Amino acid sequence: MKIQSVIVLGGGSAGFTAAITLKRLLPQLTVTILRSPEIGIIGVGEGTTPFFPHHFHQFLKLPLKEFYERAQPTWKLGIRFLWGQRESFDYSFDQQFAKRSPGLPRNNGFYHEEPPAAWCLGAGLMARNKAFTRNQRGIPEITLDTTAYHIENIKLVAYLEWQATELGVVVRNETVGQVDHQQDQITTLHLLSSEKMTADFFVDASGFAAKLLGETFQEKFHDYSDTLFCDSAIIGPRHREEHEEIQPYTTAETMDHGWCWRIDHENHINRGYVYSSKFVSDEDAEAEFRRKNPAVQQTRIVRFRSGRYQRSWIGNVVAVGNAAGFVEPLEATALMILCGQCRSLAEALIDSDCDPGPMLKTMFNRFMGERWDEIRDFLAIHYRFNKRLNTPFWQHCRENTPLHGAEEIYQFYLENGPSMLANAIFISPNDQFGAEGYLAMFLGMQVPHQKKHQPNEQELAVLKQLDQTIATRASSGATVAEALQVIRDPRWRWA
Ligand SMILES: Cc1cc2nc3c(=O)[nH]c(=O)nc-3n(C[C@H](O)[C@H](O)[C@H](O)COP(=O)(O)OP(=O)(O)OC[C@H]3O[C@@H](n4cnc5c(N)ncnc54)[C@H](O)[C@@H]3O)c2cc1C
Repeated sequence: MKIQSVIVLGGGSAGFTAAITLKRLLPQLTVTILRSPEIGIIGVGEGTTPFFPHHFHQFLKLPLKEFYERAQPTWKLGIRFLWGQRESFDYSFDQQFAKRSPGLPRNNGFYHEEPPAAWCLGAGLMARNKAFTRNQRGIPEITLDTTAYHIENIKLVAYLEWQATELGVVVRNETVGQVDHQQDQITTLHLLSSEKMTADFFVDASGFAAKLLGETFQEKFHDYSDTLFCDSAIIGPRHREEHEEIQPYTTAETMDHGWCWRIDHENHINRGYVYSSKFVSDEDAEAEFRRKNPAVQQTRIVRFRSGRYQRSWIGNVVAVGNAAGFVEPLEATALMILCGQCRSLAEALIDSDCDPGPMLKTMFNRFMGERWDEIRDFLAIHYRFNKRLNTPFWQHCRENTPLHGAEEIYQFYLENGPSMLANAIFISPNDQFGAEGYLAMFLGMQVPHQKKHQPNEQELAVLKQLDQTIATRASSGATVAEALQVIRDPRWRWA
């Protein structure tokens, strides 16, 4: 039977993104969102990667004007890591190390120890607190290919609700109690308002509750706590001082028992300390957080577990967002994988003519499982090789973090240095971080390898020229505040 009606259980960023993606690509479907005002939304999830603008602006082609007006994002060019033994290093979304600059015989990674400090425009802009280069008329070049966003979760969800409603999605404030199913088919949702609802297909976007996939189907959960030891976060905002510019990047700072993010919004800054409750009490974590961030106002604690369900598609249910899995927020990957889930689901329904068979579901589950595991593996190298602090937490991470799928990538790097040859063999073409991600982290943390390269005079001259080119273009770039002003000018038109 062809799917004609869909119920999305959950109205957080996952539920709305799924509903928008389905309705945009399969407008014939009836899509209804059920969300519980009593339970509410998680209210965190502010950092994105370039997958996010790509999904909404390029793949779904949703209007940019309304997005910017309602979601009010700022731009994120990458992550500044206060990590490893150097003061800091920048992991830009632009390509830095897994490419070869003209005139150099080897790829950039081999010259990492030499100037320039920034190996691409993205990193050059980050280093100077600029968001975009300018064109010859001095206007910021607001391109989104290697740029992501910082967005407050509440504003994002409000925008998504507006966009979903515009597309014809029905949104209802209802809490689901009992769920009936026959084998792997959900049949009826019992609402606390006593109504019963059914549909041909269900999207479980109920957050950590995983009401359909976890609670109803009892699907096996793959716990990542053997690799990722953090399970809690203390979150708090602070005002931006007058002299402080809006930073066009997320900061990830090593803390005694985990790490702390800094995310800049237009009018305030949010900080969040992600820690392991096995190594520190909530009170002591809060004390360290406040000692290092005295201006932070009211705080709250969010608990989480890192891991994923074995299958995210069972029968007539697909789980997305936190209901399918969650990997702790270092690298801000949840919204990224969410976009991939929604796109893969919509494409699966289109290609199967809304009549998906078992092999399609098997393929979907394998593909999504690999994407989750690959995030765990990428984060594993962050913990295994961070030598900044010698607290019991970090000693434990260095001694006890298995690399899983990243082990071969690490062994290859150890033997061959920052070679790009690893790309095709050890790093899947579907990998969300690619060789660039691995090299940015290995080189940033100064993980030793056996192929150190000594540049000759000619290579040094090329590097100097590259440094000057990046410095010239990046120094004259526009700050976040300047770029926001430009897009709010009534004469501004989005391409
Ligand atoms: C500390 C922390 C930091 C994070 N930082 C980032 C980040 O920087 N970047 C990033 O991409 N992600 C981040 N995330 C992940 C972020 O939470 C998710 O990306 C995102 O918000 C998805 O949430 P969701 O929609 O799955 O869940 P939720 O926002 O929890 O939404 C669940 C929805 O289901 C509804 N619901 C639940 N049960 C029922 C029921 N029985 N009946 C009816 N409705 C129900 C709720 O009311 C709600 O509407 C972070 C997560 C944590 C814990």
